[in-house]
Amino acid sequence: GLTSGHRRAATRTTCGYCGVGCALDVVTSDGEVTAVLPARDGPVNQGHACVKGRFAHGYLTSPERLAQPLLRRDGRLEPVPWEEAIGQVARGLRAAVTGGGADCVAAISSARATNEENYLVQKFMRTVVGTNNIDNCSRLCHSPSAAGLTASLGLSGGTDSFDDVEQSDCLLVVGANPVEAHPVVGARLLRRVLHGGAGLIVADPRAVGLALHADAHLRPRPGTNVALFHGLAHILLAEGLADEDFLRERATGLPELTALLEDYPPDRVSAITGVPAEDLVAAARLYGRAERPAIVYGLGVTEHLHGTDGVRSLANLAILRGAVGTDRGYGINPLRGQNNVQGASDMGALPDLLPGYGKVTDPGARSRAEAVWGGRVPDRPGLRIPDMFAAARAGELRALWIIGEDVCATDPDSDRVAEALRACPLVVCNELFLSETARHCDVVLPATSWLEKDGTFVNFDRRFQRVRPAVPAPGETRSDFDIVRAVAAAMGTDLGCPTPAHALSECGRVAPMFAGLSHERLDREGAVPWPCPHPGHPGESKLYAERFATPDGLAHLTTAPYLPPGEQPDADFPLLLVTGRRWAHYNSGSMTRRGGNLALDPVDHLDLHPDDAARYAVRNGARLIVESRHGRARLIARVGEQTSPGQVFSSFHFPASGVNRLTSDHADTVTSCPEYKVTAVRIEVDPRG
Ligand code: SF4
Repeated sequence: GLTSGHRRAATRTTCGYCGVGCALDVVTSDGEVTAVLPARDGPVNQGHACVKGRFAHGYLTSPERLAQPLLRRDGRLEPVPWEEAIGQVARGLRAAVTGGGADCVAAISSARATNEENYLVQKFMRTVVGTNNIDNCSRLCHSPSAAGLTASLGLSGGTDSFDDVEQSDCLLVVGANPVEAHPVVGARLLRRVLHGGAGLIVADPRAVGLALHADAHLRPRPGTNVALFHGLAHILLAEGLADEDFLRERATGLPELTALLEDYPPDRVSAITGVPAEDLVAAARLYGRAERPAIVYGLGVTEHLHGTDGVRSLANLAILRGAVGTDRGYGINPLRGQNNVQGASDMGALPDLLPGYGKVTDPGARSRAEAVWGGRVPDRPGLRIPDMFAAARAGELRALWIIGEDVCATDPDSDRVAEALRACPLVVCNELFLSETARHCDVVLPATSWLEKDGTFVNFDRRFQRVRPAVPAPGETRSDFDIVRAVAAAMGTDLGCPTPAHALSECGRVAPMFAGLSHERLDREGAVPWPCPHPGHPGESKLYAERFATPDGLAHLTTAPYLPPGEQPDADFPLLLVTGRRWAHYNSGSMTRRGGNLALDPVDHLDLHPDDAARYAVRNGARLIVESRHGRARLIARVGEQTSPGQVFSSFHFPASGVNRLTSDHADTVTSCPEYKVTAVRIEVDPRG
């Protein structure tokens, strides 16, 4: 305490790992974190937090943390003063624009960065560089949610406040493992089942934690979701469990859907998905007879060749039951992966959408932004992340700025990503560590992390919450906000927005759905959901009470047929690999592997079923070589019944093992979201032992 001469402080902030958005009190002594405590009055976490938010902060003081800008000279990255690094970036971007036009520059913004940073990056790209080549990593996770929910219901976000799940009597959890990946949500769902008496249907190929408590566990073959959801919809209609009044008054597309669903009787769906027909019927009845059913889903729905169709055919179930936009249910809600993946898209870090989801092709949306920004907004949609890499490989991209994403570790078919970076004349990144991506860069700018930043995040149920610096920025690190402003200034433009608070207020002038939000209000009220059109508005935690936000105000049932995934197992590659997260680590692990969490989960495994272990003579703990059509990885075997026979599972937390060398470049046909969840592979025991 004060008597010991140490300076102690506690700072309320929002967790920077997953999209749950836990409020945390970060306790520091002399500027170093000594404890992270879950806030009892945290609106989502209610006094809880997980092993990531609580303990994974050792990276802050890691000796590997970048403290100075690096510039490539004679092939080597060497420390330089900030002025020199910023000057180099500014000159490089200007030269690229002069030499090849604005569209030969691109930027990847970050779903880990604050809203204000994302807002500023997209403003920089659109107004200073003059291109819509701006995207964020929601492209790789929930872009199908954005496209699917917008097409079916009108807005790009979950439909309800997570608090409403406390009233649900049946939870349908699809393609998600919240007990490990979103533990605080996992715990609240479990509480609802164990203490609230809600029914639970889990649809996931693996025996994820929640499945232990499920009334029905459907284990579809990876890549067959659309058939599964159509099968459930078929049973809802066949058994008279659809809400006819709701469908008549508030939805469109029922005759077409009814015709399509004739092709999805339980026995055919069972043949496609591998789920027994009686389990399909039991699950459909449970969901269909519930008074307040809830759908919660994860990347097991989106990261597919037909991910957008998956989201939309899942939304069909909520629409058929009248369980969305009414008080009879908890709609359909995506579990967002990264802390601010909702916010990065809300802020317009997307190639086709401006802040607040105005289309760049819409003159009205453009002129609203132009009136605030005072410059022309380009009207041609820009490149998506995979197209940026393709353009680089084709020699058409002259400069790429990557804000805090280790694309060489996390993007699919990563050998080809590295090839793209090598082909691009100027690659710049903002980073905490010398990541695999940073090693390929020409300029590396040392950035601050979420515990050192000022701003806001938007969590998975659309709540804006404050992010506050708990510790000082180490070394010469700067926030992405300051870095973008500095590069703009070096290019002769004052981006405005001297502080993050100014940036959020300015964003509210571009996007009416955020007009009621400000740092000052969030400091006072804690959390406010969007849409929030004016300062006296409480924010809409539940969407669509009056009408859906589609052009005709109706919910749109989709009639997309089931189509197979990009890859199937065959004689050469007989197993299907699914990738996902484990409890102690987060994404590429660059933060969680640097600290105590490494001891909790020190190596990456390939989970496989005992039948497959016997078939391929693999013992538990064996070193494996895993090969796909795209590349090779090395993993340690873990034999158990969590995976189904014929399927294997691994995380992507240990990039050195090379898991994303295996994954393919198949991507959602609507949004280009990679098909991380279905890769055909083969395994052999590493002869080197
Ligand atoms: Fe909460 Fe997610 Fe952070 Fe864990 S990682 S503390 S669940 S926000």
